[in-house]
Amino acid sequence: MPNNREVRTRFAPSPTGFLHVGGARTALFNYLYAKAQGGKFLLRIEDTDQSRSTEESFKTILESLEWLGIEWDEGPSVGGPFGPYVQSERLSIYREYTEKLISEGKAYRCFCTQEELEAKKKQSEAMGIPYVYDGLHANMSEAEVQEKLKAGVPYSVRFKTPSKTLIFDDIIQGKVKFETKLIGDFIIVKSDGFPSYNYAVVVDDGLMRISHVIRGVGHLSNTPRQILIYEALGFPVPEFAHASEIVGMDGKKLSKRAGATSILAFRDLGYLPETFVNYMALLGWTSSDGQEYLRGETLKSIFDVHRCSKSPSTFDVFKKPKGGEEEVATNFSSLEQIAEAMNPKSKLNWLSNKYIRELPIAQITEALVPFLTDRTDIPKEHKDPRNPELASIVDSVRVYLDNLRQAPDYVAEFFVSDIKIAGEEAEEVLKQETAASVIREFYRLLSESLPQNDEDYKTLMTQAGEATGQKGKTLYMPIRVATTGKAHGLELPILFPLLGKEKLLKRIEKTVLQSGISLN
Ligand code: GLU
Repeated sequence: MPNNREVRTRFAPSPTGFLHVGGARTALFNYLYAKAQGGKFLLRIEDTDQSRSTEESFKTILESLEWLGIEWDEGPSVGGPFGPYVQSERLSIYREYTEKLISEGKAYRCFCTQEELEAKKKQSEAMGIPYVYDGLHANMSEAEVQEKLKAGVPYSVRFKTPSKTLIFDDIIQGKVKFETKLIGDFIIVKSDGFPSYNYAVVVDDGLMRISHVIRGVGHLSNTPRQILIYEALGFPVPEFAHASEIVGMDGKKLSKRAGATSILAFRDLGYLPETFVNYMALLGWTSSDGQEYLRGETLKSIFDVHRCSKSPSTFDVFKKPKGGEEEVATNFSSLEQIAEAMNPKSKLNWLSNKYIRELPIAQITEALVPFLTDRTDIPKEHKDPRNPELASIVDSVRVYLDNLRQAPDYVAEFFVSDIKIAGEEAEEVLKQETAASVIREFYRLLSESLPQNDEDYKTLMTQAGEATGQKGKTLYMPIRVATTGKAHGLELPILFPLLGKEKLLKRIEKTVLQSGISLN
């Protein structure tokens, strides 16, 4: 590729489903590389598979990109000088190039029926050799062709593959060598008149002056066919960069459910778009100084596709799949199910916590408010991001959050006014023989000290344990019920500093009254 070419990259999704992590990473790498090089990033919709493309998928792909902040310079809704940017609106353009290829003898009509082709495939299989189309119609006379056309015989158009050794240098995968005779003459226009993927992609990338094609390694095997078409059409061949495979925690191909999960699920789970962008940028790429916490603006200036690695990158967001057939075969059916499958110690959570801690409090409060909407235990005026009290509550709890969806439980704790012992399990805890002495001791120690942080509270609990000879459940469960009324909830050393000594003492006084325990 001539060095003076403007960097123009593109993301070319087929609207046949959600935008998932594989696709989103491809979009991101293209976007970041174009931005870092001062170039342009395009969005093109590849909807030539009419039976699988849907309007709904088109919309969610756009919504997902918008959520991630991946903005296209040219494409649907923004237009541009090389439009239209939706393949089904470009059929006349492909037709024009097909005619040209046919008239130059670089492509030909193939009138083979489906049955004939099936029979040829079966024959190859029986002989144990890979199937390659035999070029039966490559040299039909013009008269013969015209006769079939007149008779309305359906046809596809095949590319006349020149036989040669093709070598190209992939930016990520390195040198690739390919014998084109293994491909045979392949279909570029299907019998329904729609172009095949390999053909339309080249016409478009050529006309749209794409300089770098960055995509998943799964497309590496398509590249030789595409290079042959570039050469036949006389378009400059772009640089190729095939990004490494994304694997799960077990080192294997992402399970169907993990691989197909919509990017928007992470929005609904309370991850900030900037966090997810940062996380995805690290799937197969590393910065030159090894830094991992990289804000969007930084990524847009330092990302370089030449630093991508060809070894698989681990998507550690989900726990290692158990491998049950059912689990691998079905998609997640609810947000809860996704949350359940997530790995609490993922790099995503590490980054997410860091973003939640470090971004301006106003921004975090604003992003968090939608997660409070359904909570009846949080007053309405505290669901307003402009409420300074809400901001200060958020500021004191944010250090504990891996995502914003976890926030309501913390925020709600500040509004518990009338503490009650709730549920049989909680009542049972207080009936234990040793519960009263533990609570009494904890209350006494607390009233006599000035704990400041989680460590101080941990120490108090340990001391109460030593004084009463209790540890583990018989120690912390009575304290939990006495301070929260419930048998389950936030971790006590996290909760206690948030509530503070005075509130805690009052809570204990109320719960012991309800349970008939005396504090003296
Ligand atoms: N429409 C193709 C896909 O979604 C695009 C592949 C490419 O980037 O060339 O996989």
